[in-house]
Amino acid sequence: MSDEDHRRRIPRTDRLLALPAVREARERIGDAAIRRIVEERQRAAREGRLPIEEVEQAVVDALRAERPASLVPVLNATGVIVHTNLGRAPLSEGARQAIGAAAGYVDVEMDLVSGRRSARGAGAREALLQACPEAEDALIVNNGAAALLLAVTAVCAGASERDRAIPSEMIVSRGELVEIGAGFRLPDLLVTTGARLREVGTTNRTHLSDYEAAIGAATGCLLKIHPSSFRVQGFTSGVDVAALRRLADAYGLPLVVDLGSGLLRPDALLPDEPDLAGALRAGADVVIASGDKLLGGPQAGLLVGRAETIRRLAKHPLARAVRSDKLTLAAIEATLRGPETPVQAALHADPARLRERTEGLAARLAAAVQGPCEVVPHEGRVGGGGAPGVPLPGWAIELPEAMAPRLRAGAVAVVARVHRGRCLVDLRCIPESDDELLLECLIEALGDAGAAPDSAPRGLGPR
Ligand SMILES: *Cc1c(COP(=O)(O)O)cnc(C)c1O
Repeated sequence: MSDEDHRRRIPRTDRLLALPAVREARERIGDAAIRRIVEERQRAAREGRLPIEEVEQAVVDALRAERPASLVPVLNATGVIVHTNLGRAPLSEGARQAIGAAAGYVDVEMDLVSGRRSARGAGAREALLQACPEAEDALIVNNGAAALLLAVTAVCAGASERDRAIPSEMIVSRGELVEIGAGFRLPDLLVTTGARLREVGTTNRTHLSDYEAAIGAATGCLLKIHPSSFRVQGFTSGVDVAALRRLADAYGLPLVVDLGSGLLRPDALLPDEPDLAGALRAGADVVIASGDKLLGGPQAGLLVGRAETIRRLAKHPLARAVRSDKLTLAAIEATLRGPETPVQAALHADPARLRERTEGLAARLAAAVQGPCEVVPHEGRVGGGGAPGVPLPGWAIELPEAMAPRLRAGAVAVVARVHRGRCLVDLRCIPESDDELLLECLIEALGDAGAAPDSAPRGLGPR
């Protein structure tokens, strides 16, 4: 067959675009993407990479596999609960539903009874106040960093109103000037407000007298930041919120406290993790936390505190630049009003039950691949922005390290922990209802490797 004959037999574009699968796909995928898929299969046929009689089916398969967005859902088998690289907190069922319901037109800024404009996100604000009754008022913004920026900017603006010649200062302990990840440092963020950073104390020890000595005409606020991703041990001391409150009162200064992790009240499992209620009771004017760490909600910045301070923040021009969207407001409200979040469930997972599930899965896996499959003790972690260094006793299925990339590349992506040449599959962050799915993924990955789990897998070339 001549080249030309061959080319003529390739299904034409208009015929491929008329396939029922294409019509179905148009609801999810744009025209340009559909054309790209069609043209790519035609080109493959032209270049002899795809048999001509398979072009149609290849187009159908590609359309089915095409996702409206490129983010791929994964099973988190790392044992790290708030995993920054995996999107931090997985949302509760209620929050997922709320996001779906808010996706179209919603009354986010309208009172449906009067038809008039209303306060944006009033439901989310109320839910936060009910969950945190120690707060007089609350404001929800885009994320924790934005909340900190807004709080410092707005409260320090008070000091520069007194004397515009001096840029106002925030007084903060040297031990609390942290990098929060991916190279972002809170001190760099704080100075973008135009206020000056007045560092006091040392890395390991800061005393009340250090704060007091730094107070002057330029002082805009006292700032306390909870170092949520590391611990300084040994010869250390810091000043607690209550003591800072007394000092702030003596000089008539505002006190801003950034907690990070977003625990609403104390958790016996995390004795060193401060909570919103405690910081408010100790006298903070405003307390800041993230929505997607231990609170287990969507990305958001929560600001709770005194009515006057929160009102000042809400009225500041920057508040508009960092406001949260309707999907976030819906998900935060559902998270706060809903039952235990997936984050809390993973945190409080019963170690005995974890062991039972892990051993059950390992036994079925061993039977399926006809090889041994070991269960080992494995410590989970809270992860990004909470309870640094606190181990969460649990268990993992131990596989050869080469299984990790296979699991990530499976039809359902599974992210396991790679540690000391082993691939560890921890069930803590996997809902029990996904255990069967996880088993299928493990069988697929191990089956493909054609090897028993404890021997070196064969044929592990790129797929
Ligand atoms: C995580 C964290 C932030 C940043 O919050 P995002 O929600 O990630 O923007 C700020 N401060 C502290 C103490 C944190 O732990």
